[in-house]
Amino acid sequence: MSKPRLDGKVAIVTGGASGIGEAAARLFASSGATVVIADVQDALGEAVAASVGSDRCTYARCDVTEEAQVEATVARVVAAHGRLDVMLSNAGVLLPTGSVMDMDLAQLDRVMAVNFRGAAACVKHAARAMVASGSGGGAIVCTASVASLQGGFGPASYTASKHALLGLVRAAAGELGRHGVRVNCVSPGGVATPLSCALMGVGPRELEAMTVPHNVLQGKVLRAEDVAEAALFLASDQAAFISGHNLVVDGATTAVNAAVL
Ligand code: NAD
Repeated sequence: MSKPRLDGKVAIVTGGASGIGEAAARLFASSGATVVIADVQDALGEAVAASVGSDRCTYARCDVTEEAQVEATVARVVAAHGRLDVMLSNAGVLLPTGSVMDMDLAQLDRVMAVNFRGAAACVKHAARAMVASGSGGGAIVCTASVASLQGGFGPASYTASKHALLGLVRAAAGELGRHGVRVNCVSPGGVATPLSCALMGVGPRELEAMTVPHNVLQGKVLRAEDVAEAALFLASDQAAFISGHNLVVDGATTAVNAAVL
């Protein structure tokens, strides 16, 4: 089977300034797409775009918790590039909201605002643009998590936000199918990124060393690039009949209910 390609397609990657989103932005661009990174970390986002090359990748400041910014970003991308084919809704946060009995509800609101409501805004405005284009296609991929499937992977707030996101994706896939728009999730296990390292209070190499002994796939480490490959497949025409799916990229951790740490 040939590698998935995105030749001629226009993609937005939210949270593309760092971690999994950065890896996806780089991979999508090297697979033929014109990529717009939408993030709130301007310096990082600009640097990633510049290193990919301005003919293939640009940066737009967009806080996904502000629906107007998501709508404006989608509109600017369509105005500049004539279409939107792929939305990778990947921006996310993991905040230490505490145990359930001590949960910080203001922080819970923040987690839901980014991970769920922000993704909902991205799905909504990407779908509108894809349907309005009349192309009869479009692919939306949301980065969920193994926390979309079960508890025990981070705080309850994070788990709840990712369960909600999976529900949104399934419902959206059902509604948007008649327009030819596909909606899927990619659900990674633990990847050493700023998000997971901040939670554990360690650096990336240290976090990988902590997780390796627990991985079902012995001796292997899940990297942002592995998750990006799964997102690329779901975004590409090779996944033409795949919608409403949750592609779990965790080396069998959830399949065998293994501990992560
Ligand atoms: P990361 O911190 O490296 O990247 C997250 C990006 O999202 C950052 O660039 C950040 O600036 C951006 N972002 C945060 N809030 C935003 C907002 N309001 N608007 C726009 N952008 C915003 O972390 P990551 O691990 O690459 O996370 C990417 C996605 O992967 C998240 O949805 C996360 O929940 C998910 N995920 C991560 C892991 C992991 O172990 N790292 C596992 C499963 C799922």
